[in-house]
Amino acid sequence: MVRSIESGQGAMNSFVVLVSFHGDLGFFVKAKHQNHPIQLVLNRKVSVKDAIESCGVPHPEVDLIVCNGRPVDFLFHLEADATVDVYPISAQIFPEFRLQERNVCAFVADGHLGKLVRDLRLLGIDVCYRHDAEDRELLARAIQEKRSLLTRDRLLLMHRRVRTGYFPRSQRPIEQTLEVIRRFALTRKLAPFSRCLRCNGLLATVPKESVIEQLEPLTRIYYDDFQQCPECGQPYWRGSHVSKLEKRVEEILAQVE
Ligand SMILES: [Zn+2]
Repeated sequence: MVRSIESGQGAMNSFVVLVSFHGDLGFFVKAKHQNHPIQLVLNRKVSVKDAIESCGVPHPEVDLIVCNGRPVDFLFHLEADATVDVYPISAQIFPEFRLQERNVCAFVADGHLGKLVRDLRLLGIDVCYRHDAEDRELLARAIQEKRSLLTRDRLLLMHRRVRTGYFPRSQRPIEQTLEVIRRFALTRKLAPFSRCLRCNGLLATVPKESVIEQLEPLTRIYYDDFQQCPECGQPYWRGSHVSKLEKRVEEILAQVE
């Protein structure tokens, strides 16, 4: 589809539109287009969604499309000489014409985002993850379980079946974590130390006897309060290793509004 837009140049029935990307959507386009419109040659069969993605911007990143001054949806077909303004979720205009779902709080992350996943689980966010998951599996879980897809694979995010998703801009895990919290307005949903870091299960408080066989001798002596993951059986207690995790949580919470 993308190629058909480009190869339409000069063909019969082709016409020109101007597309401008606002806010942090500039991240996805070449530097020369970050403050200047992209001139696209289209044919009449191309939706505004395809036109936008041909510029490199995945549709889950787009929350508002304004064509010739009025909001339109992804299926809208552009006319000759149209001026298109494309905005991310942070846009302040046309609040009633937004394209992205609100109240997303469950995620599936691709195999390259293990550190982001650990941070999000540490904060109690529901993130499904397998380091060797294939694209097909990621898409299936996103669709069947209504999870938002977190990935730095732009083509995967552009897959037509993806309803909601996000491309972390930074390559640093802590900044990726902050980006996801801000993008999906998760601040009020954070519940640190409530979820299993290994498998995403929700932790339950359990009596010491039920996990004692899994504990090292000194842990058996010094700790009495335990939680356990009902999915994988991993026991949790507030041992010395927790202070490192608490620092991580504090570092993140200090930076979210
Ligand atoms: Zn677990």
